Amino acid sequence: MHVASWVVEQPGQPMVRRTRDESPGPGEVLLAVAACGVCHTDLGFYYEGVPTKHPFPLTLGHEISGRVVEAGPGAEAWVGRTVVVPAVLPCGTCAACRAGRGQVCPSQIFPGNDVHGGFGTHVRVPARGLCPVPDLADRRVNPAGLDLAALAVIADAVSTPYQAILRSQIGVGDLAVWVGVGGVGGFGVQIAAALGATVVAIDVDDARLERLKRHGAALTLNATRGDAKALRKDVRQFAEARGAPTWRTKIFEASGQPGGQVLAFGLLGHGSLLSIVGYTPKAVEIRLSNLMAFDATAQGNWGCLPEFYPAVVDLALSGRIAIEPFIERRPMSAINDVFAQLHHGSAQNRLVLIPEA
Ligand SMILES: [Zn+2]
Ligand SMILES: [Zn+2]
Repeated sequence: MHVASWVVEQPGQPMVRRTRDESPGPGEVLLAVAACGVCHTDLGFYYEGVPTKHPFPLTLGHEISGRVVEAGPGAEAWVGRTVVVPAVLPCGTCAACRAGRGQVCPSQIFPGNDVHGGFGTHVRVPARGLCPVPDLADRRVNPAGLDLAALAVIADAVSTPYQAILRSQIGVGDLAVWVGVGGVGGFGVQIAAALGATVVAIDVDDARLERLKRHGAALTLNATRGDAKALRKDVRQFAEARGAPTWRTKIFEASGQPGGQVLAFGLLGHGSLLSIVGYTPKAVEIRLSNLMAFDATAQGNWGCLPEFYPAVVDLALSGRIAIEPFIERRPMSAINDVFAQLHHGSAQNRLVLIPEA
């Protein structure tokens, strides 16, 4: 099929719309893209010199929802289905995958990094791991009334914090502290609250914090007011008042900024857990021995396993987490302006690009 996409020929140079022929190979499908969200990782590839696995020219975009329009051998059953494409698609057969560690599968496919991504009319992806979307017209399964485009953000911005929260083994009444509550962290606050945690949101943007007071944050703190010590004291006092000791405190770093990482590490107490969800290529200086002294845990989180996606879709469709107030649709032809806008400032909402007919 003849498809079009916005191609990065040189990082930092305007993306250009190019056409090419795509046909799905064995086990692959071709999707008509409903929407593709713009992630901080795309900006890293485009502006910060973070290397992609596939050389340029390359189409970015890994936060995709769409409809299967063509299938290769073995994937025929997918034709006509609407799906969310997990940002990381493990192969499912290697030793890591068989051990349940698909996140580190050496053969994983990350659209817009390993292969052409979702900033186009169509994208070719493996069928294995795609998350089928239930009938959105059925108000019993979709009381939130979401459309397929809105579900694009589940591919990464919603599923990634979901896996991080799951792995932290958070329990009802535990304290979840999210540092950085933009796209990923904002959904993280909502998910942690939906799963029964008491949530603290920390950011540098008052508007983001204000909104999250209505979406799950029990305490909001602006990191630009007061130093790290004062923030730590505020979090501790709040935790004590809520009956959550440090060993029931899970800290999630989603700002992807060196300052946020140092702050998050500094919030660790005895038995706490720190989950690194955001990415920066920059290094930070921390006293790693605090982990030893506090018997604390630090863990990373890469994407989300495909098997967790149906539960995330359900959280969204049931309205237990809100999607629509946190996204903004833009025409895909505005991609260069959207990237520039995100690079030079920040957006209150996750920006989702819709391909033109
Ligand atoms: Zn991403
Ligand atoms: Zn694998």
